[in-house]
Amino acid sequence: MFRHGIAPRQRPPPGKAMLDSVRVRLTLWYTAVLAVVLVALSLITYFIFWQSTVQRTDVNLAELSNAFLTTLDAEISDQSGPDAFKLAGQVAVTEHRFRDHVFAIFDAKGNLVVSSQDVPLAAPAIDSVPAGLLSSDSFQRFLNASSRSERFFGKVRSNKAGYRAFARHFSSGGKAGTLVILQSLHAQQEMLGEVTVTFAWVIPIALLLASVGGYFLARKSLAPVVAMSSQAGRIGAANLHERLAVQNDRDELGHLARSFNSLLDRLSQSFERQQRFMADASHELRTPVAILRGEAEVALSQQARSPEEYRESLGVLHHEAERLTHIVEDLFTLTRADAGQYPLQPRDFYLDELVGECVHSARTLALAKKICLNFEEASESPIRADESLLRRMILNLLDNAIKYTSEGGRVTVTCRGRDEEYTVSITDTGGGIPADLQSRIFERFFRADKARSRVENDGGGAGLGLSISRWIAEAHHGRLELTRSDSIGSTFTAYLPVGPSPPRSSD
Ligand code: ADP
Repeated sequence: MFRHGIAPRQRPPPGKAMLDSVRVRLTLWYTAVLAVVLVALSLITYFIFWQSTVQRTDVNLAELSNAFLTTLDAEISDQSGPDAFKLAGQVAVTEHRFRDHVFAIFDAKGNLVVSSQDVPLAAPAIDSVPAGLLSSDSFQRFLNASSRSERFFGKVRSNKAGYRAFARHFSSGGKAGTLVILQSLHAQQEMLGEVTVTFAWVIPIALLLASVGGYFLARKSLAPVVAMSSQAGRIGAANLHERLAVQNDRDELGHLARSFNSLLDRLSQSFERQQRFMADASHELRTPVAILRGEAEVALSQQARSPEEYRESLGVLHHEAERLTHIVEDLFTLTRADAGQYPLQPRDFYLDELVGECVHSARTLALAKKICLNFEEASESPIRADESLLRRMILNLLDNAIKYTSEGGRVTVTCRGRDEEYTVSITDTGGGIPADLQSRIFERFFRADKARSRVENDGGGAGLGLSISRWIAEAHHGRLELTRSDSIGSTFTAYLPVGPSPPRSSD
């Protein structure tokens, strides 16, 4: 039984934990690659060395055969009688006594005439030459194979090191024969054995040194990463302003630290924005809630009130509740927009018609302030977009234009199509927005004249209308800009890309 039902954290087995370390994995990889390279290099070296040894031996055997046959020629011409060939061969074999070499002469039928082993004086100075070498199977196979070509190199196996063998057909003094020279490979094989032994201890030592060095190198290279990770681990909401130390901003780790720091910058900006948004939202909500509460308290505290007074109180309560609903809806829209969860519902319609409808619905508002509301006739503007969102954007802009224009003013609306985009402009003759505040009017909860909006309580604006309108334009891959604002009025323009043309409904 575990307290609170929490299972103890399982530790990985020690071997696996070791492999979880990048340092260990890097070292193992490095050592494995080095081992493969060293073994491959040793094999190649061994092979090249062996090849060149064999080549040198072959050259040597060919030269020896030349010298031997010259001697044999000379001796044959000096000898006479039926054994002249054999005698001349014995003299030549005696004269060419070499350590590690065996000479043998065969007649045209392949019978042995003379060999170094038959002539005691010429017997090679190594004890290792086995007595039955020339009658061994391996030698016979070589001899048979050599009969097919004029000169033939091959190998003859024996119990110890093998022999490099060279067979050459010749004719001398009218007699044809085959000269065979065998050279022991004992010395070469001994040397190669030593090379192999050297590799066998040098490679493991090299690998050990390389892996220890590799481990420390990996540790040193990864030390900044370890430092960064512990620094990053200490950064939380309370100290989001702290940043990772960048040791060398030109290398990869410096780049990583800079990327991480810029991520922190973005995070802390969005965190601050979020906090400001929460503070502003609660501040905005507090006013209507306080009015609601106050009004209800006043209504409840007075015993005898006339129905008119109750009606008036209920009217205030209703107005504030409406304003509250409006703010909460706006907040909800923005929150969903921020989370990317506001689903657009595009459909085909005509933008000029939509603008006309919005102007029509704003007429009552304009009339109440004796504002002349004009919609300049526009050409057909088919568009594919979310109609209710665009309606909301245009109504927001119209609402602002009427709200911030004094009585008797004028609001003009245009809808034009130009270069792949439509422009909807709303121009008013209000007092304009102070130049220093123009860049901030799209911020959330921003009001150029807070005092006036609050006191007049004119239409429940919380400073969210333009933020939502800009988001709507951007959600349609367009933009919303304040194109002009001075003491004689302001113009807001929405730029919307032209979508695929819808079929016009017959009316
Ligand atoms: P609000 O709900 O306060 O109107 P908005 O986001 O729609 O919020 O507008 C932000 C601020 O921009 C307003 O408080 C106002 O000061 C300024 N503003 C917007 N439209 C106009 C306009 N047509 N003329 C002058 N000021 C405007």
